[in-house]
Amino acid sequence: MNLPGSWLHELQRFCLVVMLAGLLGWLLGYPFIAMAIASLGLNLMWLGQLLRIRLWLDKPEQAPPESRGIWGIVFDRIYHLQRQNRESQARLQSTVDYLQDSFVSMRDGAVMVDENGVIDWSNAAAQRLLGLRYPQDRGQPLLNLVRLPEFHRYFLSRDYQEPLQLRSGNDSNLMLQFEITPFGAGDRLVFIRDVTKLAKLEQMRRDFVGNVSHELRTPLTVIKGYIETILGNSAALDPRYVKPLQQMEQQAQRMENLLRDLLWLSRIESDHARGNNTDVDIAGLVEELEGELQSSHPHRRLELDLQSRHKVRGDYRELHSAVSNLVLNALKYSGDDSPVRVSWQQVGDEFLLSVHDSGIGIDAVHLPRLTERFYRVDDSRSSRTGGTGLGLAIVKHAAAAHKAKLRIASRPGEGSTFTLAFPSA
Ligand code: ADP
Repeated sequence: MNLPGSWLHELQRFCLVVMLAGLLGWLLGYPFIAMAIASLGLNLMWLGQLLRIRLWLDKPEQAPPESRGIWGIVFDRIYHLQRQNRESQARLQSTVDYLQDSFVSMRDGAVMVDENGVIDWSNAAAQRLLGLRYPQDRGQPLLNLVRLPEFHRYFLSRDYQEPLQLRSGNDSNLMLQFEITPFGAGDRLVFIRDVTKLAKLEQMRRDFVGNVSHELRTPLTVIKGYIETILGNSAALDPRYVKPLQQMEQQAQRMENLLRDLLWLSRIESDHARGNNTDVDIAGLVEELEGELQSSHPHRRLELDLQSRHKVRGDYRELHSAVSNLVLNALKYSGDDSPVRVSWQQVGDEFLLSVHDSGIGIDAVHLPRLTERFYRVDDSRSSRTGGTGLGLAIVKHAAAAHKAKLRIASRPGEGSTFTLAFPSA
């Protein structure tokens, strides 16, 4: 053990004083009493020093008491540690001030709340966007001041993976996006962004696609009608024109499918269209779909494994289109004799609708982009099957509208499993 020199010096002093007292006591005939008195004296002196430390620590801003020997070193060390502590505290405080200053001047709203949802701090933008006043609202529960039911649900859910977008309660023209980040011991940082312009652009895009698709439908119906009429009378046609006309009919059909899917997608995307909320019996929906497929795909087999009768709150047509897109894809991208399995069951706290096929499968590189509009693994595959490239985008949007997640597991040559995972609550 490496003992400090000052302590050894103090020990030497102690031994010397006790020995000298013992020697003096021996001369007087009471060596042990003299040694005991000397030890007691030294103890009293140390107690005196401890008292000085105690008094000084009560008022640490005062200069440390003067002392020599090991006590002087102890006082110096404590004083040094105190100074270091004060300096790092000041540094920390200036970092906090700097961060708060940058948050204050941010264009996005920022609110810090503690583990009980009580406001600790908020910036000026939070006042503009949410009407919060700082420091007056400090100590108030955030949910008492932000009266948006959807925000309440989001805040209390503690699932902040996706941001929440909704209209401001104070100004219905304002579209707000909330992002919550937990930090520290249960504290949360709430960011509020004004996304009105972005939401308007998004709405314009949706309206444009919806309107164009709608407008194109009428001329297409006329063109298709004429082609069908002419082809219906093919005996009177010059044989050279039959094949081109048949191809025109095929392409017109593709265009019609495309317009139908585009219109449907823009309907699912626009939130104001959502209002048809009923309890949808998914097992019943799958059975109904099986019946429909018996007429359109009479040679294909659908294996059903319906273990649950759980109902999902939502829009029947949207859920039907999501499930039928998955099943039709499974049929399209697997061999005619290979069965497609559809299951509906509870696993943990989720209800899973899975569509499994043993078809051509998909390479892992394509999986992250598969639900993008018009994304195709390879073009020849889709033109052969007559797909529009919108099926999985429809599934993704319908899933999101029902708080479900779309999971895809696939291996080239082995098949794919597409799963819609609905939360149980
Ligand atoms: P499409 O109308 O082209 O089928 P989707 O959006 O439904 O469009 O699907 C996107 C792409 O994902 C398809 O072009 C296809 O390459 C691939 N895909 C979808 N489902 C499957 C499946 N079950 N097996 C293999 N590939 C699939």
